[in-house]
Amino acid sequence: MAGLDRFRVVVGAGNSGQPGVVVRLPGVLVVASVARPETIETTKRLLALCADAAGEASATGTALVRQAGALLFNTEAERVPAFGLLTTSNNRILVLIHGAMDVVATGPTPVALSGMDSAIWVDRLLPAEISRVDIGPTDTLHGAPRSGFTGLDDLGFPLDLRIGAVPGIGVSLISADASPLTASSAAAGADGFLAGFDSPREPMTGAAPIPTPGTRLPDPLSTAPPPLIPLRSQDDEVHRRLVAAAEPTQAADFDELDEDPPTALAEHELLARRQRHDDLTDDLDDDQDAVTQLPGDQSFTVSDLIEDDDAATMLPDAAQPQVEGILCAHGHFNHPLAPYCAECGISLAQQTNRTVLGPRPPVGVLVFDDGQTVNVDMDLVIGRQPDRDEAVRAGNARPLPVEDGESAVSRVHAVITLNGWDAVITDRGSANGTYIAPPEATVWTPLSPHQPAPLVPGTRVQVGKRTFVFNSHIQI
Ligand SMILES: [Zn+2]
Repeated sequence: MAGLDRFRVVVGAGNSGQPGVVVRLPGVLVVASVARPETIETTKRLLALCADAAGEASATGTALVRQAGALLFNTEAERVPAFGLLTTSNNRILVLIHGAMDVVATGPTPVALSGMDSAIWVDRLLPAEISRVDIGPTDTLHGAPRSGFTGLDDLGFPLDLRIGAVPGIGVSLISADASPLTASSAAAGADGFLAGFDSPREPMTGAAPIPTPGTRLPDPLSTAPPPLIPLRSQDDEVHRRLVAAAEPTQAADFDELDEDPPTALAEHELLARRQRHDDLTDDLDDDQDAVTQLPGDQSFTVSDLIEDDDAATMLPDAAQPQVEGILCAHGHFNHPLAPYCAECGISLAQQTNRTVLGPRPPVGVLVFDDGQTVNVDMDLVIGRQPDRDEAVRAGNARPLPVEDGESAVSRVHAVITLNGWDAVITDRGSANGTYIAPPEATVWTPLSPHQPAPLVPGTRVQVGKRTFVFNSHIQI
């Protein structure tokens, strides 16, 4: 993680009227203003995210910025401190700033950013060739007296904060390649920095946030997913499960299998099912129907929504893909891992070794925010003009037109694909991204384009301004 680590970090101390904290960890640097007490709790959570991620290339960079973005989305604005978060991404510095905090990068292509330029945050991947980065509160940098950045040496603060947390309102990152920082050069540098801020603000106002290449950060103005309930500690666990479910080849998970799998099942399919099973076990209760809560405390069961005419028949149905399942004593066709018959509710405990092939029933239903329900009985293409999709044209998928009135939904936005009894959702490279929140999740997770993610029952999905829930009467 050479990006941040090649810089010396000089701390601007500020004064007692400007409490703040500067934290440097491997691959992470945070400057946060904690002038308002109500922001301290969020600051702690932000720093905890950084501490968890520090030192791991896979957890810092864009992954950390996403986590910080999720925290921002799920916290009331007045509880969020003005802060700047710098992390390393592909040997470059990735910046996220929020509120009254400015960042100036000096180099062949100078960059000036202000958290004030966006309602929620500004993020930017800084140019590779920068020699210096200054971060400080907007007020401090614009107003007199020029405290904070002048006379850094004189204040006796460490010229190179290697690791840890110190009081401070801002920092100057000096490239290790540059000449050693002396008192005079520090003052000159600070003066130049401040002079830049004292001039008209064209450079700042022109610095609109741009998406970081390869990153799917939510656009706060057009695609901000509605806030879920506040971030909780199990998010990491949910994320881990999501990742594990999306990578069904993990040997560790396979070792955890404690029952004989039907031999005909492909290994990856079985693992995906097992993962689903694990995810659902915690929530399984005596109620065999997933219950969806609607606004106004109405509730309904998924079985009520699914027109499940043929689920019980074992007559060969050429139109329906055949899937492996088990029959209850009454002849109803069920998921091979189902503990109870979805039709009549009797126990399937004695049937688990007698798998048969049968026509696949609908695996679930999508319930949209406007009450529309859609059976998930074949592949579905979601978008503003889903008819354009090749699979739809070929008759292999059904179009599911979705409009949000603002064209934030792409023409072909996402696709839900059935594999056996399982559904997966894949973003089709949409302009504004697809977000999912599995049942226990408290934050939205942006899907990586063209990377399938499991759609377990209870998963909420956002495309453009629209949301829907995937539910299923199939409980395993
Ligand atoms: Zn039955």
